[in-house]
Amino acid sequence: MVYVLDKSNKPLMPTNRHGKVKHLLRSGKAVVVSREPFTIKLVYNSESYTQEITLGIDAGSKTVGLSASTEKEELYSSETVLRTDIVKLLAERLQYRKTRRNHLRYRKPRFDNRKATKKPGWLAPSIRHKIDSHLKLVENVHKILPITKVIVEVAAFDIQKIKNPNISGTEYQQGDQFDSWNVREYVLFRDKHTCQHCLGKSKDKVLNVHHLESRKTGGNAPSDLVTLCKTCHSKVHTGKIVLNIKRGKSFRDAAFMGIMRWAFYNKLKETYTNVSLTYGYITKYVRINNGIEKTHAADAYCIANNVEAKRQEHVYMQKFVRHSNRSLHKANLIKGSRRIASKAPTIVKGYRLFDKVLYKNQECFIFGRRERGFFDLRLLDGVKVNGAASYKKLKLINIPRTLLKERKKQVG
Ligand SMILES: [Zn+2]
Repeated sequence: MVYVLDKSNKPLMPTNRHGKVKHLLRSGKAVVVSREPFTIKLVYNSESYTQEITLGIDAGSKTVGLSASTEKEELYSSETVLRTDIVKLLAERLQYRKTRRNHLRYRKPRFDNRKATKKPGWLAPSIRHKIDSHLKLVENVHKILPITKVIVEVAAFDIQKIKNPNISGTEYQQGDQFDSWNVREYVLFRDKHTCQHCLGKSKDKVLNVHHLESRKTGGNAPSDLVTLCKTCHSKVHTGKIVLNIKRGKSFRDAAFMGIMRWAFYNKLKETYTNVSLTYGYITKYVRINNGIEKTHAADAYCIANNVEAKRQEHVYMQKFVRHSNRSLHKANLIKGSRRIASKAPTIVKGYRLFDKVLYKNQECFIFGRRERGFFDLRLLDGVKVNGAASYKKLKLINIPRTLLKERKKQVG
């Protein structure tokens, strides 16, 4: 897939016609603006012809799946691993600051920079960082595709719909068949994805949701459902065990769940016009009913809900990394009363950490460097390419800032 921008950098429909792209580039009618994803810019005035393109977002605290599609074809697919080191780094920074203060004699507080109460809408830095990363990814896709609609999954299940089954609204047009999928996801969550009979002792990872009474008399209320592993479930049905489970009426608080995803959804609505939400149980239903594999990219494809669309052959695997080491995160910052320079130089033999390089015809990243010029080369998922490759054998492909990218064949 080649992404196309017009003269004023507005995205047009992408193309698969590589012959035409070559011709445009050769004749000087277009220029390459990005190699990953491959994007060209037309230099002449062009007609814009657009179709409906939906961007599906599988938001997550560790991995984000994105998929943009028309009814006929998936146009973009990616999976991005977020940084998870924010909490640790802030804790370290606090420690280092305290240590440094202790090197000093007592001094009066110079300013009052501690707030007694947090403003409403305050989010922890780690959550704020995740939301910003999500927004950045969505913005990146909007730069190369004329997206007309955005759909984001906000939670695994819809607790309001369970508490109040008569609720109605535009999001609830799917009908009754979805209700049991919704309740199932809630019951799994309530039971902490653990078999309520053996509490995980059977080691069976397949979980079922069991009706305590028959479906006809008990219905689909969460109080009549319980999570069992497949082993225990079949033992119940063959009469080998009798369940001793009390039925509770109370709802496990789902409010703390998905704070990030809801906040992200609200932010999206501030930025883009056509934003709607969906739930994990609907995604799961679509995925299973269409025999689609379980990956974040595939979930995003299901969220966009163009299930007739031809899948992209490749998926962009991406990873957010730290831009640089802050000097505050280094131990032994102060010797005597003097600040000492960081020992590790930014550039070793012309290379930085996380540079994308070509080594023996394979694209990989520099994950570690030794001063004498031997580098640890890896793929994004951490798979080692070479633990000590000489810098002489490398060719620099690009210098990423904070987002590493790798093109991979789609699974399944
Ligand atoms: Zn069990």
